[in-house]
Amino acid sequence: TAVPAITLNNGVRMPQLGFGVYQVPDDETTSAVATALDAGYRSIDTAAIYGNEAGVGRAIADSGIARDDLFITTKIWNSDQGYDRALRAFDDSLAKLGLEQLDLSLIHWPTPERGLYLDTWRALERLYADGRVRAIGVSNFEPEHLDRLLASSTVVPAVNQVELHPALQNRATVAANERHGIVTEAWSPLAQGAVLGEASVVDVAARHGVTPAQVVLRWHLQQGRVVIPKSVTPSRIAENLDVFGFELAADELAVIDMLERDGRTGPHPAEFH
Ligand code: NAD
Repeated sequence: TAVPAITLNNGVRMPQLGFGVYQVPDDETTSAVATALDAGYRSIDTAAIYGNEAGVGRAIADSGIARDDLFITTKIWNSDQGYDRALRAFDDSLAKLGLEQLDLSLIHWPTPERGLYLDTWRALERLYADGRVRAIGVSNFEPEHLDRLLASSTVVPAVNQVELHPALQNRATVAANERHGIVTEAWSPLAQGAVLGEASVVDVAARHGVTPAQVVLRWHLQQGRVVIPKSVTPSRIAENLDVFGFELAADELAVIDMLERDGRTGPHPAEFH
């Protein structure tokens, strides 16, 4: 089954499910991304700091898939914030990926103490105006960071990619995104595996004859979010994409909602520099 697309606030269509490559070493990334593309993924989420943009680029080049059929996201790292640095970092990423245009470029973290995300955003607005990237967005932005950005910018972020899974549902940020027409993209959608043994998830999975990972991905998708699960295991890469043939009932979504427990796996955005 084909992955449905979500229409971003500028009309660009983004696959609702993509492949994340955080913590995949560059030399393993090419085969992992090749496996994902073979399985049917068309959206890839990388970042300069992951050190594997070149590996992603090799897999894209080798795949023979038309560029228009792919959706490639990368991110500006914290130390590259600021107008000039961000422009240079964008060029570096594009060169490593071997691409002429990016689909989505994100500010990786707000790093409020640096005080540079507004300047960085102006660089992304410039790149967007120049047609070098089809959509621009942010990552790990709390409502206060969004408010500040929106108060002084022309382009509303298309996406806010944040940590989101049953153990950390980030409701205030999701609500802020919705108010502003920003699509919520869930990183660590599986909580890096930490919620897959929960009794309620296991029960719902058994009822549908699917796996716990598939249940958690469905829980995200049915709430209209974009997800980017990561795996380097071919069977899991395929499994995580095979989530469009069943549907969770309202009461099944509700029992998963109850798993919220501030199970943050990454740093808090207000404190990370
Ligand atoms: P994830 O929630 O996708 O979990 C991945 C891990 O879950 C795997 O390493 C494996 O241990 C397990 N897993 C995956 N599929 C499974 C399956 N079918 N069955 C059982 N176990 C399975 O975690 P992640 O990699 O942290 O997040 C996904 C992507 O989000 C990253 O690769 C990256 O692209 C993005 N990300 C972004 C940020 C950010 O700051 N913007 C931070 C972290 C991750």
